[in-house]
Amino acid sequence: MHPYNGLIEKYRERLPVADDTPVVSLNEGATPLIELRNLPRLAGKNVRIFGKFEGLNPTGSFKDRGMTMAVSKALEAGARAIICASTGNTSAAAAAYAARAGIACFVLIPEGKIALGKLSQAMMHGSVVIQIRGNFDDGMRLVQEVAKTMPVNIVNSINPYRIQGQKTIAFEVIEALGDAPDYHALPVGNAGNITAHWIGYSEAVCTDTRACALCQGRCGYHKTKLATRRPVMLGYQASGAAPILRGRPVENPETVATAIRIGNPVSWQQALAAQQESGGWFGECTDGEILRAQKMLAQTEGIFCEPASAISIAGLLKDLELGKIGEGSTIVCTLTGHGLKDPDTAIAQSVKPLTVEAELDAIEDVIRGHLPPS
Ligand SMILES: *Cc1c(COP(=O)(O)O)cnc(C)c1O
Repeated sequence: MHPYNGLIEKYRERLPVADDTPVVSLNEGATPLIELRNLPRLAGKNVRIFGKFEGLNPTGSFKDRGMTMAVSKALEAGARAIICASTGNTSAAAAAYAARAGIACFVLIPEGKIALGKLSQAMMHGSVVIQIRGNFDDGMRLVQEVAKTMPVNIVNSINPYRIQGQKTIAFEVIEALGDAPDYHALPVGNAGNITAHWIGYSEAVCTDTRACALCQGRCGYHKTKLATRRPVMLGYQASGAAPILRGRPVENPETVATAIRIGNPVSWQQALAAQQESGGWFGECTDGEILRAQKMLAQTEGIFCEPASAISIAGLLKDLELGKIGEGSTIVCTLTGHGLKDPDTAIAQSVKPLTVEAELDAIEDVIRGHLPPS
């Protein structure tokens, strides 16, 4: 039996780490790929849909995959402090991994616009939380400027090690299914994750370590081919924060899905490349569609993801309805973060608890009124 010690140990051969790189890990990765059996039935489509539940990472989102790499490499380089701009989950992951590494962590977040669970994580892990009167894009710009004058290591997804860690999700999907799926759907905010997925899938089908046409030399760390093909990539943006669909930056992005409330994604060009090379497309969903999908997933599949994650389900359901996805297809949706991250949004759209007297009659009445028909 080999104990699981996180994704750097597991995929060492495929990652830019040396034998003496100090590995900072919380045993991230190895998240379950859960078949969603009720959704195809409800959608009336003959397809197989799987949710890759990244909410089960140590800090509750896929950001841990990138952070184990970024913080390990920062430590290797002798960094004393890391910094990031965040819509919430990057700050939660950065704070936790910095705590484990024993280095300082500074996070810039948009004031009043991050989900409560994420804020509590950044605070609890002892990072220095700086709320800015501005949005994520302002924070991202400030982080890049301040890193020129202060001894801080940026751990946003412009840090190439973040993308390297995050690409491992593709390897895990391929291992679970035996090959790549036909389609892979995910939310697009700063667009680092769609970039990472595509690099992972591209490396998985490539064995030429010298000059690979598929991954353009990024694949120097692998030896064996994992998959026979790559999926069609489907990237979804919230209607109020959809710069890639609009073809220009969105100045004041707005959406209930705060994790993708981004108007000027750093990895825009790489996201376009992933879409074009895979023959995929971008789509948009309204906040109403996002929240309906979040609730549907929670109430028909038992999976509680955060609003941003639910857009991969919302977008997929729309594209299934439109007939854009063929019968018999296998689709993986990345469920990027846990629903517990954003309790306010969950409670606001749920049935309120009932309050009754502490008496048997009262409880029986409630049960009678809610039992499904026999
Ligand atoms: C960061 C994040 C996203 C967006 O990922 P990008 O790499 O910025 O496109 C989506 N969902 C959740 C839960 C996130 O934390």
